[in-house]
Amino acid sequence: MLNKFFDKFVFVNQLKFKDYNFSLINVPFVILPTDIIAGLCEAENEEFNKRLYYAVKNSVTKELSPRFKLDFGMEPERFLKFSETFFTASGFGFLKNIQLDFQTNRAIVSVSNSAVAQLLQGKVKKPCDHLLRGILAGTFSVAFKTNIECVETKCHAQHQSNCEFVCEPAASIDFSKQEVREQLDLKL
Ligand SMILES: [Zn+2]
Repeated sequence: MLNKFFDKFVFVNQLKFKDYNFSLINVPFVILPTDIIAGLCEAENEEFNKRLYYAVKNSVTKELSPRFKLDFGMEPERFLKFSETFFTASGFGFLKNIQLDFQTNRAIVSVSNSAVAQLLQGKVKKPCDHLLRGILAGTFSVAFKTNIECVETKCHAQHQSNCEFVCEPAASIDFSKQEVREQLDLKL
């Protein structure tokens, strides 16, 4: 028994290890120690963090989301719920939408017990969940059908109770804020 989400796929034989690769229906995945992801997120180098964020956002938008949508239905709200459950069940932490607005294309996501932030507590001075930021930016870009950026405004690595992520179109973001400029490329 793992958790409800993965147990269901084990039960119907859709979680597989074949030819030395894991897959969940047609989504390939690896089991990766959190230390390795924390190592990528620990580099306090703005340029590296931004490139990591944009690379993950791009993969989620172009590669992962179409696989999810193919297997699990096309409705944006169902797709969002599935993504939230998938990343929570995969051990990233407990993801929860605390605001979701399809009119303004804005969402705020709270993540408690971020696996990466727990390992980096006291080791980084700025929010560190760049991988989750990229995952959320890609996911909401697909759900809202427009280009969405994500800024981590609170992080458990700085002893906040939860991490918090604001996802919205670049045109709605206040680039005069330092934390925004540290996490996103300024687009003029
Ligand atoms: Zn965080």
